[in-house]
Amino acid sequence: MGEKLLWYREGLKFCCQSCGVCCSGCPGFVWVTQAEIDRLSAKFGISSELFEKLFVWTVPDGRRSLKEYPNGDCVLLDEKTRMCKFYEERPTQCKTWPFWSQNILKKKCWDATAESCPGCNCGRLYSAEEIEKQSLAVEL
Ligand code: SF4
Ligand code: SF4
Repeated sequence: MGEKLLWYREGLKFCCQSCGVCCSGCPGFVWVTQAEIDRLSAKFGISSELFEKLFVWTVPDGRRSLKEYPNGDCVLLDEKTRMCKFYEERPTQCKTWPFWSQNILKKKCWDATAESCPGCNCGRLYSAEEIEKQSLAVEL
């Protein structure tokens, strides 16, 4: 573990409060791999091709992202419950939130993340090793 990451050596707490904030709002990207598209489409009960046509767009560099509704909601966010319709199958990018490298780089980055995500600093304590593993699992 790099010296610069040791500010969270005692771990960090996180428990999603299901507010839906991180699945909506300003335009963004939710990167999906082919394996994730296959998994989501199987759960949806449609072919990967149809799932991609309906819910995925390709950015100019060739990467694929889930689409958003005009109001900024991710296409997989339930409008009423504000929860992911496919929570168990959600992409790695979503599974590893909020422990993305840019969010844990410095304490002030984490504090800024916590301002928008009410799940930060509550609930289960994640060890530094768990946090680092999650931050390394996602390419943003
Ligand atoms: S912003 Fe945080 S608490 Fe709200 S849904 Fe996202 S992860 Fe959960
Ligand atoms: S896939 Fe699910 S968890 Fe990820 S941004 Fe969309 S609604 Fe949220």
